[in-house]
Amino acid sequence: MASSERSHAFPLAGGAESRPPEDPRCDACNSGLLRRRRVDMAFWSGGRLVLVRDIPSLVCDACGEQYTEDEVAMQLDMMRGADFRHAQMIDRQEVPVYTFPGGRDDLR
Ligand SMILES: [Zn+2]
Repeated sequence: MASSERSHAFPLAGGAESRPPEDPRCDACNSGLLRRRRVDMAFWSGGRLVLVRDIPSLVCDACGEQYTEDEVAMQLDMMRGADFRHAQMIDRQEVPVYTFPGGRDDLR
């Protein structure tokens, strides 16, 4: 698969838990067709932000919604459960951190 087909969305919550609908149409927009793509997803694991590349997924060609099949989601859960200790680390990235405007003031 060409790398240009890879989606670069990074869902942080529930990214690996949305199951594909039974028919090939997207449940989110009801119009797009789902296509097999490799996507990157980020997860919080043991206080670290972890990026997993090239996850087999179904991606809506209209709205971009991503679905993960059970087998892949189970594999991701196992990787997360082991805090990625047995996964091969291929790269490191620096992650910029921002605060929402006024967000810190609300805490005082
Ligand atoms: Zn869609």
